[in-house]
Amino acid sequence: MNEGSTDTDVLVAGAGPVGLALACALRQHGVSVRIVDKAPAPATTSRANFVHARGSEVLDRLGALDGLPQESVRAMTITTYAGDRPMMRIRFGDPGLRTAAPPMVISQARVEARLRERLAELGGRPEWGAPVVAADQDGSGVTVVLGDGRTVRAGRLVGCDGSGSTVHELAGIGFPGVKVSERFLLVDARLDTTLDRSGTSGWVHPEGMLGAMPMPGGLWRLIAYDAAFPGGPDEERIVERMRQILPVRTGLPGIRLLDASWASLFSVHRRLAGTYRRGRVLLAGDAAHVHAPFGGQGMLTGLGDAENLAWKLALVAGGRAGERLLDTYEAERRPLATQVLRGSTAVTKVNIAAGPVGRFLRDRVMVPVFGLPWSQRWVTYTTSQLWVSYRRGPLGGGGGPRPRPGDRVPDVPCVRADGTRTRLHAELRGRWAVLGGGDAFEAARARLGGLVVHLRPATPLPAMLIRPDAHLACRGGPAELTRWLDGALA
Ligand SMILES: Cc1cc2nc3c(=O)[nH]c(=O)nc-3n(C[C@H](O)[C@H](O)[C@H](O)COP(=O)(O)OP(=O)(O)OC[C@H]3O[C@@H](n4cnc5c(N)ncnc54)[C@H](O)[C@@H]3O)c2cc1C
Repeated sequence: MNEGSTDTDVLVAGAGPVGLALACALRQHGVSVRIVDKAPAPATTSRANFVHARGSEVLDRLGALDGLPQESVRAMTITTYAGDRPMMRIRFGDPGLRTAAPPMVISQARVEARLRERLAELGGRPEWGAPVVAADQDGSGVTVVLGDGRTVRAGRLVGCDGSGSTVHELAGIGFPGVKVSERFLLVDARLDTTLDRSGTSGWVHPEGMLGAMPMPGGLWRLIAYDAAFPGGPDEERIVERMRQILPVRTGLPGIRLLDASWASLFSVHRRLAGTYRRGRVLLAGDAAHVHAPFGGQGMLTGLGDAENLAWKLALVAGGRAGERLLDTYEAERRPLATQVLRGSTAVTKVNIAAGPVGRFLRDRVMVPVFGLPWSQRWVTYTTSQLWVSYRRGPLGGGGGPRPRPGDRVPDVPCVRADGTRTRLHAELRGRWAVLGGGDAFEAARARLGGLVVHLRPATPLPAMLIRPDAHLACRGGPAELTRWLDGALA
């Protein structure tokens, strides 16, 4: 499927979760891909530790979810205390969300490891110690130079190379933003404590918040705001500091930090790429948007970017769609990143509120509001990203019953052409689906060939064409599907 005389259809720079997800998705679509990373070997530190429902759904559609829910901790509440007084309790994972893929507390290192295994099953593997150092694009491809002097000729280059992205600079794309907070301490450790492991606990304290989240393997993730921390990124000093402030800020004199497996410092920045695409170079994940870790939205948003981009790149690389389809990637995904940046900045400001106005808003306005059942449902729904819709984007639009074109389609039970039972999302995995209507399926097959599968819904529905990322393309008969595909793939 190579474009022109390229070595590979797509070169992915960065084998973090987003680069790996993109590489898996592209392989599922049958696209040739190489994935390179500047690090000498995979990272082993935990980093992100919460995967919301939408992230689990993406992993499921990539065939990379197996085993992770069983390994994960189901800690789906956050209880905030002032001293020993519980002020607020937020619950995640509303069972009404209708997804087979549960939210998980699991480390980024495990998610990446599972994605690497899946990529190996699909015939790919990351090339470590191979940074992208130069890139030059022309009308038919991108010539990329790696750190060891090797050259790769690719149809497209996708920068999944994180917040310090080199691909940005090489493509001349700006990454403006601002610093939102001073430093937080982060320690993954074993604790001597009777603290409840069924949820996260957070304490508001005049010197700054402290949070403790249970992690797999009996560990706890501790995060504390410490604007005045004088040290640098020396793990021992960070652990020592956390050891001192833990009993003070929690008001639990008996709590003790035993041994730490990772310690780090971070301050919060908010940055958004000026554009997600310059010609044959595209950006995804932290290379496109950086924000606070609160709310667990970073890796989640990046996984969604990868899935959205993969099927579009596949159709263009395969000659089934025109270049214009690639513009819909930014049109669909950048507005979401803008919203995520706004939300996570607000949460950070609440977490670090020090002045009387900020504290009043947090303690007297937000705490009571977040205690209400409707706002708990709203928090679950918002953070899960199951609400994400491209209805207002260039491929969405139109009224009618829900889901509407552009909306996510839930993982409904359905039946294959041979009569066996299945579920919608398990059938997507690099494919489109027509749910219902045999004529509509034939119309989709005329444009998409073997990339589309025909399914019967368990309960009768009007025919729907579903994109590989589980969003509704359109509904109707052969004429409607053909019209939609003609427009989208032009
Ligand atoms: C403390 C903390 C907690 C977090 N918690 C959560 C959470 O619970 N849930 C969540 O969803 N998100 C969370 N996040 C955010 C999440 O970690 C990031 O969004 C995620 O790592 C982004 O993945 P990525 O693949 O885009 O980038 P990265 O993970 O940064 O990966 C980029 C990769 O590119 C490589 N690279 C860099 N330069 C080059 C180059 N020139 N050539 C080739 N390779 C290169 C790097 O070596 C790296 O492997 C958290 C972040 C932090 C800091």
